[in-house]
Amino acid sequence: MKGTVLHGPGDIRFEDVPEPKIEADTDVVIRIAATCVCGSDLWPYRGLQSAKGPSRMGHEYCGFVEDVGSAVTSIKRGQFVVGSFATSDNTCPTCGIGYQSSCRQREFVSRAQSPYLRVSNADGTLVATRERPDASMIPGLLATSDVFGTGWYAADAAKVKPGATAVVVGDGAVGLLAVLSARQMGAERIIVMSRTPARQALARQFGATDIVVERGAEGIARILEMTGGLGADSVLECVGTGESMHQAMAVTRKGGHMSFVGVPHGVEIDGQALFNAHIHLEGGPAPVRRYLPDLIDLVLEQTVDPSPVFDLVLPLDRVAEGYKAMDERRAIKTLLMP
Ligand SMILES: [Zn+2]
Repeated sequence: MKGTVLHGPGDIRFEDVPEPKIEADTDVVIRIAATCVCGSDLWPYRGLQSAKGPSRMGHEYCGFVEDVGSAVTSIKRGQFVVGSFATSDNTCPTCGIGYQSSCRQREFVSRAQSPYLRVSNADGTLVATRERPDASMIPGLLATSDVFGTGWYAADAAKVKPGATAVVVGDGAVGLLAVLSARQMGAERIIVMSRTPARQALARQFGATDIVVERGAEGIARILEMTGGLGADSVLECVGTGESMHQAMAVTRKGGHMSFVGVPHGVEIDGQALFNAHIHLEGGPAPVRRYLPDLIDLVLEQTVDPSPVFDLVLPLDRVAEGYKAMDERRAIKTLLMP
């Protein structure tokens, strides 16, 4: 089969790769129904993250179970399944308290931009739908695999409560779905830091009430002014740069909650600033598996629709164009159909 391989900065190829097979008796192989390009895929694509030679790409996936290892009990051939970018046994002490993305058996998925994918720890990783979903539901279900699950974690970890004020730092796909999640959790005011008109429009569609275009000290001052000098109850950092972390900390009210879900690059936290911030902090790789059953239901019941974050749809063999469009910020997120 052919799959997506990153050969170097800006060099994505769809080329011959080995077909995945069951390797451990806890594996399954799925036929991908849809996959996509993640914002975090852009770091190695831009050469900002070192790679040792060509690397297979892709960690967001959903599809149909093709082959099942002999020790797998809950997942059956033919089922439609969604899994997280981090596999998990869902039985260890870390999984037991809902932090499956740091499971002791974790493996990171990195070959999903392909027609077929092997998933390890299948019983603990994959969630099957009751029925095979209509094709129209597949983009929304795919979103639960990472981007919506991560946005949801941003809102959950920042303890968004009904009636609260939330600030979302970042207007990438995760930030936009953090807006949707904060709205679903009942936030009354949702302020998004964004400079791009198309993304501002989608943020409003997802429930944002205010847009702040200023950044840095000006952005901080603007949000403090909008919140009576207090800062926000819940601040959701969805970028992962030093600047965005600093902004997020500075606009969280004393005693408030800040989450950080962007993969950090060049972030350094000053101990004194952290001490004086006097806030609750939670972040890390989103434990998407914890939320998958509920998010799948929210999508299938059409309570929410995260799929508008996919503003470019391409056949999988044109994956290189999908990376380029996101790199140049012409697309928010590229959906790839095998
Ligand atoms: Zn575990």
